[in-house]
Amino acid sequence: MSKTFKSVFPGKYIQGEGLISELPEMIKSFGDKGLIISSRRIRETILSEDFVRYEEDGTLLEEFNGECCEKELKRLYDIVISRKVNVVAGVGGGKAIDTAKIVADRAGLPVIIVPTIASTDAPCSGCAIIYSEGGVFESVYYQKMNPQVVLVDMTIIARAPVRFLVAGMGDALATWFEARSCERTQSMNACGGYSTMAGLNLAKLCYDTILQYGTAAKMAAENNIITPALYHVAEANILLSGIGFESSGLAAAHSIHNGLSALDATHAYFHGEKVAFGVLTGLHLTDALPAETAGVYAFCEEVGLPTTFADIGLVEPDKKMLMKAAIKACEPQEGIHHEAGLITPEKVLYSMLAADAMGKNRKTKGF
Ligand SMILES: [Zn+2]
Repeated sequence: MSKTFKSVFPGKYIQGEGLISELPEMIKSFGDKGLIISSRRIRETILSEDFVRYEEDGTLLEEFNGECCEKELKRLYDIVISRKVNVVAGVGGGKAIDTAKIVADRAGLPVIIVPTIASTDAPCSGCAIIYSEGGVFESVYYQKMNPQVVLVDMTIIARAPVRFLVAGMGDALATWFEARSCERTQSMNACGGYSTMAGLNLAKLCYDTILQYGTAAKMAAENNIITPALYHVAEANILLSGIGFESSGLAAAHSIHNGLSALDATHAYFHGEKVAFGVLTGLHLTDALPAETAGVYAFCEEVGLPTTFADIGLVEPDKKMLMKAAIKACEPQEGIHHEAGLITPEKVLYSMLAADAMGKNRKTKGF
């Protein structure tokens, strides 16, 4: 049987300054009864300027309770049905966005996503993560379609704490390496097909963009200024990485992230920060060329992404604990098996130790 190639994209990706003021019109273009899901803080800061317009339009502003769990999803779904909502918008960080995507999908409605930080590639994707009420990972939810609109307001992105942008670069850093591994081993992507040329090349563009503009974008964000470099990196973090991972596939970096996330000490660290350490581990695991590995370390050091265990909260971790993470990273459903050869927890443990050792060594030598 021939292979099926598959790519998925958001309907529209719009990036510019002050775009949040266009949200009321955008909602109206899809339906006459909108529901915006956001945290109270986002509502009081980012959405407050347009309160009058939302009120005139009859748009509901519903506070997100903080967890993308079944209880919250049901509560919001019931509002959608009882108030006859016909377009949903999610404004905020990862979980508010994921909640909006799932609620809209279950109700068969279009969804508009407005990320307020550029910390992950979730806004453009057609999947979302469901947690328990206590915040423990439960499952990945696949939507029928990717979001109809992703609206990236650079004024908001530039005002966010810089750590979010840097973490987004960590997430984006993984995209090319994971795509490349899936291509090499002819593994399936995250939307149930084989990588298209578009997916693979956008993943490469994602990597080249953050390498070229990452440092300048970080400086811009630190000073709350909007520059072309910040535009490029926001696009890489949100759009290129989103299409890249979904249409080209996941591999070692995200599995190592999943393994490390099982260790309590890493909980204070962002997704993209742990993914970055997963990228470094993956380079050791896959026997990447030394010059390439050195280049990725240098990039992480330059922008402030983790390169050692200590950088993700693991201060002098014992091997037994690390083995727990390595075993979890190698669970049968994990993308790490898209890497070439037989991947075992032992190999992953040694690669994590090697990644940390090289990171420490470079730090003591002053890079
Ligand atoms: Zn990710």
